[in-house]
Amino acid sequence: MKCVWESTESGMVRCPQCGVLRPNPRTRVCRPDPWKDKAKNPAELKPSVTKKALNYAAAWTRWALKGMPTRDENQIREILAICVKCDHYDPQGEACNECGCCTNARTQGWANKIAMATEKCPLEKW
Ligand code: SF4
Ligand SMILES: [Zn+2]
Repeated sequence: MKCVWESTESGMVRCPQCGVLRPNPRTRVCRPDPWKDKAKNPAELKPSVTKKALNYAAAWTRWALKGMPTRDENQIREILAICVKCDHYDPQGEACNECGCCTNARTQGWANKIAMATEKCPLEKW
């Protein structure tokens, strides 16, 4: 079964079957909740401080090399709505427990991985 793409208000596309959000329609195998097996005990899976720093440095480098492109406010809002519902989201720290990066509503890329247009969800939810 393939994802069926519907456009969203921010100009991205979402598959209503699995909930995945993408910048544009691309052939993708649709599996409802394909991330379930990864969410055993998300709190314990938090990356170490070192790993977090490395992930952040890598994200920053990818972003800087492309000229620091950012997503707009609507896109950030739509993506954050996915993070907030995700088992890997840490609402206190406003961060993703999978990669350790900050995921929030800020529009500055240096303060928010979602705002960096070069970044995506490590579990491919967006
Ligand atoms: S980036 Fe992905 S894995 Fe992390 S909290 Fe957001 S949706 Fe979940
Ligand atoms: Zn789908």
